[in-house]
Amino acid sequence: MAFVLGAQSRAKLKGVKPELVAVVERAIQITGTNFRITEGLRSVTRQKELFAAGASETMNSRHLTGHAVDVVALVNCNVRWDWPLYPKIAAAFKQASKELATPIVWGGDWPRLRDGPHFELDRKRYP
Ligand SMILES: [Zn+2]
Repeated sequence: MAFVLGAQSRAKLKGVKPELVAVVERAIQITGTNFRITEGLRSVTRQKELFAAGASETMNSRHLTGHAVDVVALVNCNVRWDWPLYPKIAAAFKQASKELATPIVWGGDWPRLRDGPHFELDRKRYP
């Protein structure tokens, strides 16, 4: 089953690094779990709000520079936050990353404060 990025997702990809957009475009073609982009480029004002609310623990977010995206899983067009869906989406991102030779990091692989919806370009290659 092939999915396509909706207009909402495309709008959220504005200002995101083209290498990461390419990974997203490939991931949606190969994923078995549909997803939507909920956030890409983030303003400093919004980051301050999230930081103040405790939703983010850094002011050095990769979202500020267009190096990160957040996704949400969709099941029959409904937003789902069930954790098991996210490793499935991550598998598609990882395969896309490998195919395009664009290293990425999945927030779900972080040893602490796992962030299942979050994908970013690897800082080692994209500082
Ligand atoms: Zn994020």
